[in-house]
Amino acid sequence: MDYALVTGASRGIGKAIAIQLAKDGYYVLINYRSNHNEANDTLQTIESAGGKAELLAFDVSDKNAIKEAIENWKNSNPDNYISVLVNNAGIAMDNIMVFMEDEHWDNIIDTNLNSFFYVTRPLLQDMIVNKGGRIINMVSLSGLKGQAGQVNYSAAKAGIIGATKALAQELGKKKITVNAIAPGFISTDMTTNLPEKELKKMVPLKRFGTAEEVAYLVSFIASEKASYITGETIQINGGLYTR
Ligand code: NAP
Repeated sequence: MDYALVTGASRGIGKAIAIQLAKDGYYVLINYRSNHNEANDTLQTIESAGGKAELLAFDVSDKNAIKEAIENWKNSNPDNYISVLVNNAGIAMDNIMVFMEDEHWDNIIDTNLNSFFYVTRPLLQDMIVNKGGRIINMVSLSGLKGQAGQVNYSAAKAGIIGATKALAQELGKKKITVNAIAPGFISTDMTTNLPEKELKKMVPLKRFGTAEEVAYLVSFIASEKASYITGETIQINGGLYTR
C-alpha cells in the first residue's frame, strides 16, 4: 500500500485531501496540532468508507516534534515509506506591517515556511531510494500577488513557491515531482470571518471554492496522470486574476 502524509488534516482543506487520498487507495497519515476530535472525525470518515488511515499528531512549527514523530513512525514501519507528502498545515495572523508584532511574523514563518523544510527533509531519502514520490505544497494567491495585511503570510507562501521550483530541479531525475497549489478563497474555518458576500463579487465564478475542489486537484497531482508536471504552482481560485 502507498502511504500519504497530509499535514493539517483535522479540518478544512487538509481534511478533504486526506479523505480523497484514502478514496484513491492511499493509507493516509492524518497530521494535526491539537484538535483531536476533528482529526478523529477525519479518521472515522475514511474508515467508514472502507479506507485506511491513522493519526499522527505533531506541531509543524516545532522541528523537534516533527523529528520525533517522523522517526517514531519510521521505526514502527520499517518496510513502508511515505510516497506522497502534502504540506498543507497553515495559519494566518493578519495585521498591517506597521503594527505587526514579532510573534505574528515568527509564528507564520515557523508554521507556514519552516515546516516545509523540517517535514519534507526527513522523507526525501526514502523517496529517492524508491525512485518516486510526490511533494505537494499548499500555498496561496497571497504568495503570488501579495496581500495587504498579510506581509508575513505572503512572504511564507512566496518562499515555498521558490523552494518548490528549486526542489523540483533537485529531484526530477529521481522521478519525484514537487508542486505547489495556490487556492484563492476556499470556505473553511480560516475564511469564516471574511466578508464573503462582498469578496465573492470579485471572483469571476461568483463564489468561494470548496475544500473538496482543492482535494480533487491534489488527487490529480498525486496520481501517475500528473507525472510530467513539476516545479509548478497551480492556481485554483475561481478565476481571480493574480498575474
Ligand atoms: P483551517 O481550516 O484553519 O485548518 C488548518 C489545519 O492546519 C488544521 O487541521 C490545523 O490543525 C492544522 N494546523 C495549524 N497549525 C498547525 C501546526 N502548527 N501543526 C500541525 N497542524 C497545524 O485552514 P485551511 O483553510 O484548510 O487551510 C489549509 C491550507 O490552505 C493552509 O496552508 C492555508 O494557508 C492554505 N490556504 C487556504 C485558503 C482558504 O481560503 N481557506 C486559501 C489559500 C491557501 P488543528 O485542527 O489541530 O488546529
